[in-house]
Amino acid sequence: MATHLASAPGRVNLIGEHTDYNGGLCLPFALPLETTVELTPRPDGEVHLRSAEAGRWDGTLDDVRAGAATGWAAYVAGVLWALAEAGHPVPGCDLRISSTVPLGAGLSSSASLEAAVAVALADHLGLPLDDAGRRSLATACIRAETEYVGAPTGGLDQLAVLLAEEGTAVLIDFEEPTTTRRVPLALPGAGLGILVTDTGVRHQLAAGGGYAERRAQCEAAARALGRPTLRPVEIGDLDRLYDPVLRRRARHVVTENARVTAVAAAAGAGDWTRVGAHLTASHASLRDDFEVTVPALDLAAATAEEHGALGARMTGGGFGGSTLALVPLARADAVRAGIDEAFTRHGLPRPTHHLVEPSAGARPLSR
Ligand code: ADP
Ligand code: MG
Repeated sequence: MATHLASAPGRVNLIGEHTDYNGGLCLPFALPLETTVELTPRPDGEVHLRSAEAGRWDGTLDDVRAGAATGWAAYVAGVLWALAEAGHPVPGCDLRISSTVPLGAGLSSSASLEAAVAVALADHLGLPLDDAGRRSLATACIRAETEYVGAPTGGLDQLAVLLAEEGTAVLIDFEEPTTTRRVPLALPGAGLGILVTDTGVRHQLAAGGGYAERRAQCEAAARALGRPTLRPVEIGDLDRLYDPVLRRRARHVVTENARVTAVAAAAGAGDWTRVGAHLTASHASLRDDFEVTVPALDLAAATAEEHGALGARMTGGGFGGSTLALVPLARADAVRAGIDEAFTRHGLPRPTHHLVEPSAGARPLSR
């Protein structure tokens, strides 16, 4: 049977962290790193998964339906399951996977994998890949990750990698119903780039831990304020949160939503100094109020600024992963070298850097 090739990028979130599951705002864009999937449908209902990064899994569509795929294979099986649940005639298949997105680095290798599988299947099934079609694939990928894998993530990653376009970020508003708008990010024209630094410190979302705890705290804070989510909460409302931890968590979310709006406006106006200042303020909020940074993230962000970045912050869920820095292209090498030197001085392993600009979203390669 015909083979279907598809790829999907990783993403960085320029700003708007831990807001997605709070009905809030975020502003991600796609990376030039991507997962590629080759899908060959099979008539016998068998499912054979091969990942260059993770190994192999063999089973059947019945196994997939029964939830038998675990570990990395659950991210793939979850997409097959979710598209079948949505009523599509998902076939047995061979899937070959390879990726340049680092796994667990906060650059969304998981959504990249899910979206590549979803687009390959969409190509086979003849599903539309306009905005509406991409949105329903994102819904399937979100169900794969939250329901099949069991990682309580909020949907930012899947919408970002499916809706991204070159040269733009995607402003996502998670207030029901979720809406999206593309925001041009004219970085190269301004002599700027985003330096993404993978600290090498790894997190584990599916294990629950800090991410699930933060999510529960945000829900508790909204409940205590008598609101369905933290979205309608204003800064003045926070005095009514008597638990100091809940108050800090909520303050991060409320101020972060405001920063997303401010960054979208400042980027549109070409005010990159202001964009940088908001990135730095976001990092401080994630460090002090939301408490999801680790020393390597704090060090990378602070060092980037010392060496000429206009602003820097952790990106992704935190507890490890990556930072991003808004850098003049002429300073990129100096920032990179400065971070390497600081990591060595602190006895940390050498980080990995990617100088990136907003790249294309998930797409079929065989159409
Ligand atoms: P992130 O999305 O930030 O990289 P996650 O913990 O959300 O981190 O997802 C990482 C997990 O996704 C990996 O541990 C693995 O289970 C799965 N995964 C991602 N990319 C691949 C791949 N190329 N092959 C197999 N599994 C992958
Ligand atoms: Mg992920």
